[in-house]
Amino acid sequence: MAGKITVIGPTREEVMKVLRAFLLIRKTDKREYQYVQSRVKIIFISCMLGFTNEFFMPEKVWFANRSVIRNNDLAWLSSLIVHEAFHATQFKKGMYVLPLGKKLEAPALLVQRKFLRKIEGGKGRGEIESAVKKKYWREMRGDKRSFSYFRNLLHLLENKKLQLTKMGA
Ligand SMILES: [Zn+2]
Repeated sequence: MAGKITVIGPTREEVMKVLRAFLLIRKTDKREYQYVQSRVKIIFISCMLGFTNEFFMPEKVWFANRSVIRNNDLAWLSSLIVHEAFHATQFKKGMYVLPLGKKLEAPALLVQRKFLRKIEGGKGRGEIESAVKKKYWREMRGDKRSFSYFRNLLHLLENKKLQLTKMGA
């Protein structure tokens, strides 16, 4: 079931980039696009720098720091959205428990890699290997500030204390 995704960001630039990433997903794989639409409800781009991001289930909210959107190319960004949406599947199967570790990341990375290959004929493969090597989930775990910030935002969202604008994806 495809629904509209709400995108919230500090500037129009980031919001539009997410939108373009969605169009790339649609262009690359229609089925994946539908999956993403049913698995993600809100994308919240924080004004903080750094690459920490976190997907919350069952809320279906993905929080990403600004650099995740700004400093990644469009192919990588769209594959990351596909990756995050896959975590929703893990959650449905009762596997998704935070904090993330290799057990949850490995299958999500596999889905991401497959998608990247479809976009650019394998060009994104090297990137994904280096991402795995860096064990970014460990790096993110050290970023306590972002994680508590995301939780605060989630709390505000749940209590309807944020004003939102809907954007069709
Ligand atoms: Zn992940």
